Amino acid sequence: MTNDAERVVVVTGGSRGIGRAIGVRMADANTTIYFNYSTKNSTDAEETARLVEDAGATVRGALVNIALREEVQGFFSQIVKECGRVDVLVNNAGIARDGLLVRMKEEDWDRVLGINLKGAFCCIQAVAKTMMKQRFGRIINIASVVGVMGNAGQANYVASKAGMIGLTKTAARELAPRGITVNAVAPGFIDTSMTADLAEKVKEAMLAQVPLGRMGQPQDVAEVVAFLASEKASYITGQVIHVNGGMYM
Ligand code: NAP
Repeated sequence: MTNDAERVVVVTGGSRGIGRAIGVRMADANTTIYFNYSTKNSTDAEETARLVEDAGATVRGALVNIALREEVQGFFSQIVKECGRVDVLVNNAGIARDGLLVRMKEEDWDRVLGINLKGAFCCIQAVAKTMMKQRFGRIINIASVVGVMGNAGQANYVASKAGMIGLTKTAARELAPRGITVNAVAPGFIDTSMTADLAEKVKEAMLAQVPLGRMGQPQDVAEVVAFLASEKASYITGQVIHVNGGMYM
């Protein structure tokens, strides 16, 4: 088990929303939080860095597009050079480009799969050797409830999230002998910029499917991620933990 005094956590897509909440939740004086994002001159990233630092952690934000394998490899090499280890990887970065299946543009399919699924694969591959050498690691993939339920209008997004669940289970089996756990957290309908632009009617229809009758907050997801990253979750691997207000049971 790693020494808590030197925990290194990497959160992809950590500049806002769920990724930001995870960074802030996991921040303390013994932790270095690395996060990335893909927007140049991101004021969101500056704000996240400030919040994580206020919570007591050392923080490094980096402009790294996770769909680009070389950028990802450079990012993790730099982290290992600076810290010598990576304890926790949270594959959180993700986008949606919605549209009905029959009309979906190939570029929207490729873009969503390239960021959401290939991006997670590239990050896992880039960090695996370091974690294997350490004989310790926690990998947490942010999937989605729709990855198990399906959702009309989201063929690309749903395929990426279902793929992420398969990736989670396979990585869990391959990496377990080296003391690395790999789990997925599947959020439901969470209050972030990803859902902010939905039409009121769509929001109402989604809320009607949530027994708890409200949207989740990014912190609801961050709590589960923090647990899975902790020593308390050392016997949990290959699982999908749902955080959805009962939307899927
Ligand atoms: P969000 O508010 O839109 O934030 C997405 C984050 O990902 C941002 O930091 C964004 O930064 C980053 N990102 C996007 N493309 C990237 C790329 N190519 N390389 C690096 N970073 C990139 O989204 P969110 O709602 O917090 O969602 C976070 C995760 O939870 C996603 O995987 C999403 O699919 C999943 N999820 C969300 C919900 C929900 O209801 N909100 C439900 C289920 C699952 P830049 O824009 O600067 O790149």
